[in-house]
Amino acid sequence: MNKSIAIVIPSYNEATNIDVLVKALNETVTNLSYDFKFVFVDDGSSDDTIAILKEKSKLQDNIFYVELSRNFGHQNALKAGIDLVKNNADAIISMDGDMQHPPKIIPELIRKWEEGYEVVYTIREEDKKLSYFKNKSSNMFYGLMNKLSDIKFEPGTADFRLIDKKVAQVFSDFSENELFIRGIINWVGFKQFAVNYEPNERFSGKSKYTFGKMMRFAIQGITSFSTKPLSMAIILGISLSVFAFIFYIGYVIYSIYYGHVISGWASVITTVVFFGGLNLVVLGIIGVYIGKLFMQSKGRPNYLISNTNYK
Ligand code: UDP
Ligand code: MG
Repeated sequence: MNKSIAIVIPSYNEATNIDVLVKALNETVTNLSYDFKFVFVDDGSSDDTIAILKEKSKLQDNIFYVELSRNFGHQNALKAGIDLVKNNADAIISMDGDMQHPPKIIPELIRKWEEGYEVVYTIREEDKKLSYFKNKSSNMFYGLMNKLSDIKFEPGTADFRLIDKKVAQVFSDFSENELFIRGIINWVGFKQFAVNYEPNERFSGKSKYTFGKMMRFAIQGITSFSTKPLSMAIILGISLSVFAFIFYIGYVIYSIYYGHVISGWASVITTVVFFGGLNLVVLGIIGVYIGKLFMQSKGRPNYLISNTNYK
């Protein structure tokens, strides 16, 4: 019997991409002797995504749809797919539904898995096809992540990877409220291998990761894997207190020598605003962690499935 491989594809308003992707996937897997299942997770799309998926699943019996009850976000949609297929697949491949992750490297992912690697992840080569902004912001993000957290992140990694059944089982037990899957996959260890690839342009539609979303995702990633921002707040506070104390002593000595000096209004206001801002930043950092505790304490599920034909 052939081993089975499930390809999980979170899709949010990807109606115009499904056709191309399915064609490309079919072409890729046609010469491989595995049982492939294409599992599309419709993340509460407002376009025809689900209608098209239902249509496709009638025409081809290895296409499955999973309909979430609303938009839960990319990471949760991906978890929904993995949770659902984990008991029936020997390996799970996750990829985006917009053709940016080229299906043609899937055989290579599988080859590495057959060699014994339990996680085969991919690294996007810095590419002119992606916007300058996306490349730069992604590099900055990973630089910051590595400084601030205790596990190592490689720039250019996305949620395009193959994981072995074993890893899927372990991952499925994670009940973190704010998922940062690439961090968790890095954290779990196992035998990992990286494959490089050249990303394509998004086939159609536009990116759902706006600047705001990307910022939130970055903060989520950092605060999920590290409490360093909290200790940084302490260090910052202490440094500023020491600075203020030295400044005060200096000022006293200065005024003994030169008599009392009235300082300008502008500098006073600047200082007040600066420290006011700093207070808010530190409070905000603490707030993020408290928010995480709050959300986690409610123990709500990461997603809700309203309908699926998966079996
Ligand atoms: N996605 C999703 N839910 C969302 C946002 C995105 O399932 O709320 C999917 C989307 O359909 C795509 C993948 O996640 O398959 C990556 O999203 P996108 O291409 O917009 O991000 P980018 O490639 O620009 O980082
Ligand atoms: Mg994309």
